[in-house]
Amino acid sequence: MFEIKGDLLNSVLMEGIKESVFIVKVINDLDFVYVYLNRAAMEKTGLTKTVIGQSIRDVYAAERADFLIEHYKKVVISLESVTYEDSSTSLLGEMYYSEITLSPLFDDSNKCTHIVALVHDVTEKKWGEFELKSYWDSLLESKQRYRSLYEFNEDAIFSINRNGQIIKGNAAVKDVTGYQANSLTDSNFISLVVVENINTTMESFNRAVEGKNQHINIAITNKSGNRVEVIAKFTPTIVNGEVVGIYWILKDVTEQLMILKMYQESEQRFRIIAENSQDLITMLDEKGKIIYVSPSYKTVLGFNKEEYIGKYFFHNIHLEHKDKLWESILQSIKNEKSWKLQVLNKHKTKGWIWCELCGTPVFDNQSQFIHMVCVTRDIHMQKEYELKLKHIAFHDSLTNLPNRRLFKEKLTHTLNECKKNKMGLAVILMDIDHFKCINDEMGHDIGDEVLVEFSKRVSNCLQNDQIIARLGGDEFTVLLPNRQSKKEVAAIAEQIQKSMDEPWNINNHEFKITTSMGIAIIFDEYPTESSILKTADLALYEAKRAGRNTYRIK
Ligand code: GH3
Ligand code: MG
Repeated sequence: MFEIKGDLLNSVLMEGIKESVFIVKVINDLDFVYVYLNRAAMEKTGLTKTVIGQSIRDVYAAERADFLIEHYKKVVISLESVTYEDSSTSLLGEMYYSEITLSPLFDDSNKCTHIVALVHDVTEKKWGEFELKSYWDSLLESKQRYRSLYEFNEDAIFSINRNGQIIKGNAAVKDVTGYQANSLTDSNFISLVVVENINTTMESFNRAVEGKNQHINIAITNKSGNRVEVIAKFTPTIVNGEVVGIYWILKDVTEQLMILKMYQESEQRFRIIAENSQDLITMLDEKGKIIYVSPSYKTVLGFNKEEYIGKYFFHNIHLEHKDKLWESILQSIKNEKSWKLQVLNKHKTKGWIWCELCGTPVFDNQSQFIHMVCVTRDIHMQKEYELKLKHIAFHDSLTNLPNRRLFKEKLTHTLNECKKNKMGLAVILMDIDHFKCINDEMGHDIGDEVLVEFSKRVSNCLQNDQIIARLGGDEFTVLLPNRQSKKEVAAIAEQIQKSMDEPWNINNHEFKITTSMGIAIIFDEYPTESSILKTADLALYEAKRAGRNTYRIK
């Protein structure tokens, strides 16, 4: 699509210059499509912005289009500016004359892609010339042009007298009112107007009788009795300073109003949904700036909606997630698809909150990206639940220690690290001695508390990087990463043993607890995880056989 860059330049071109400016795009050297016209061009020709995207042939009748295209083609062939003269009739039937300069615009390969038409009004100069020529010829020409403008106009045109009586009407009267123009002759124009618009219509008519152009939005009743929305113009015909009659021109705008209404309704629907949604609804402009946020932002994230407007969507997203979000948005615009992402969103007082974002890009008729609509949902509860589930899956519920599954993952990871850095590691496998007796004599609950207390006592003997896990039953394990000498490991085992010596007093029951330990130490050969555990198990078995409350190192 062709666009004039720069607001200032655009407004100068659009509003500031008296000359009409048209820009057309050259299609295959044969056809010319309007891409721009300024205010003066619209006012002089009566064309509107709706011609943008239409070719000259779409806009003008064949004869006129041929005339224009002939000149435009000359520019494409010669690749030089071409100047020609033209004359046309204004909406009021006045002739005006112009000198048009068509200038080519080129692309990088010197191909003429666009043509700029600059129209100079030379009417005054022309009239001077005409005085030398035959005045009557021009009047005749003017009359013929005027007639075709009248006859072929798509708007209904009535010629009415100063009393409001219809003298005649053009062919389009039938399209707009359903009546043949001649069937309305002699009736008063006001009979077509709906009752509630009669007063304002009469006021406009009376001003037109005084010589002033008028236009108003009203409705008429057509032959079938249906309401037709129209823009009604009153244009006085003035001869020798006196209003001799009035043109009443009706433009049917039913369709435009219907489209406007549909748009307003859909906008209203969007608002009702957005304003009442518990999800956060955000609308971004094409640059990623926030142009709308729903009131739910206040309840969910604590900020007033005004605090978001005009800011970039990223401003309250955690730094760690900004790149991912940016990438998702770009991809979605490129592929014209929705996107979904979980990110941390800033809460006014509570810090970062997990949210799920779902965005949909919106495009206009020309497939230009115009908006991104994002629905954001607070998922921090869901996230917390996920974390809890993850914790449950990897921890023992009684002691809250890592379980067998997590221990195996840690062992695999530590073993890989040790191999990479040529370090050693040790695994201590522990099994409480005669634990069954505790259960049998004092009950399962006390047995449980022993297991909890046992895990605490062992944990207190360990450094931060040393991991204790409960493998199941009364079986625990400790992973000691990094190179360990036999002596160091023995010292830790003895410390664990010693921690058991403290008296055990649970629910007023006093008893003694000991544990047996089997230890596997890895130096420079790296067996598999299961073979390490097997070695530790063997050592534990030996410790049990040796009478318990002792350790064996392999
Ligand atoms: P050993 O000295 O040979 O280890 O003898 P032991 O009595 O400790 O026997 P073993 O280790 O084979 O048995 C462990 C017992 O732990 C078996 C089971 O009843 C009990 N146990 C397993 N899980 C739990 C638990 O979660 N709570 C309680 N209170 N007891 C458990
Ligand atoms: Mg045991």
